[in-house]
Amino acid sequence: MASLTLKGIYKVYNGEVKAVNDLNLYIRDKEFVVLVGPSGCGKSTTLRMIAGLEDITQGELYIGDRLVNDVAPKDRDIAMVFQNYALYPHMTVYENMAFGLKLRKIPKTEIDRRVKEASKILDIEHLLARKPKALSGGQSQRVALGRAIVREPKVFLMDEPLSNLDAKLRVQMRTEIIKLHNRLQTTFVYVTHDQTEAMTMGSRIVVMKDGVMQQVDTPQNLYDYPDNQFVAGFMGSPQMNFIPCMITDVDGKIYADFTRGRILLNDYKKSKFKDLTKYIGRQVIMGIRPEDIHNDEDHIAKANENLVKAYVDVVENLGAYTYFYMNIEGMAITAMSDSRTQVRCDDTITVAFDVNRLHFFDYDTEETILNR
Ligand code: ADP
Repeated sequence: MASLTLKGIYKVYNGEVKAVNDLNLYIRDKEFVVLVGPSGCGKSTTLRMIAGLEDITQGELYIGDRLVNDVAPKDRDIAMVFQNYALYPHMTVYENMAFGLKLRKIPKTEIDRRVKEASKILDIEHLLARKPKALSGGQSQRVALGRAIVREPKVFLMDEPLSNLDAKLRVQMRTEIIKLHNRLQTTFVYVTHDQTEAMTMGSRIVVMKDGVMQQVDTPQNLYDYPDNQFVAGFMGSPQMNFIPCMITDVDGKIYADFTRGRILLNDYKKSKFKDLTKYIGRQVIMGIRPEDIHNDEDHIAKANENLVKAYVDVVENLGAYTYFYMNIEGMAITAMSDSRTQVRCDDTITVAFDVNRLHFFDYDTEETILNR
């Protein structure tokens, strides 16, 4: 078991591509950290540097207290699970799991003990004699995990390990990996481009973009308090709506004004909105998540200058809830409602924006304007 410390880590490929830019991150012992971001943002490169599969251009990497920049991958006490499983096709499941231990000259009885224990944890005992071609995707992924477990590493690194599985199996393996983490009590670093995977699996999430870390926090904090517009848009599905508006002061009342609608920010003085007063007369970006736009009677009845008229383009009923794809002043806005709503396509409806759930971002820097 070990912590990981990344200090001012850079990766520059071929002297020009800055894949990772000044990454500073401390991962506690036994933590489950997820690196998430769009394709090409530097997640895999970061993981591969931790594994030792990629040189670090600049900066320091510690596993526990040990500086490992120049330590060979096999001496780092880490195990990595890849997207494509990388199983040896000519070996049985047992041999695949035992292979790395044999190379390390671990006694046969100890190898046997570890392989049996790992296969029990992963429920693959009945597959030990099979070759990889006789395994399903989910079973192959378990074997790949098993091969990592038997090494009893201090740190597990996983690079999109579920992306080759179908949607249902992916959800199932997600829970299995969370359980595995609880059981093994080891540090996990997990890479994915899928924000749902990140939200559900990580105890902390690192959001990256263009090689730069954007924010590190718990899933709930990232969702509720995104530091910038990128994080706000990336985390959450359907994504947050962004509406350019002007902050105005009308007789001492502060509004987010978007010409044909305006939202009264009545709590602006005492609350997280207080810095908005610096933006009076200026354009900002207002953000609101689909689930914070309401069309039920309760919300409409309690509304206080936070109602907006919307034309409904498309209604999508998913059973548990319904999405409305609406048009507000030419802007496409998504709202989410319970599935019993009577709203139909081509209706013009009134919706209430939940003022306490609004986000505001600086128009130029895209940084949040709100205080926690
Ligand atoms: P992610 O895992 O987030 O999709 P990567 O870490 O694979 O992103 O890549 C980050 C950036 O580094 C991308 O711009 C990618 O094209 C570049 N890159 C990755 N590997 C190499 C390489 N071996 N040589 C040159 N550029 C690379």
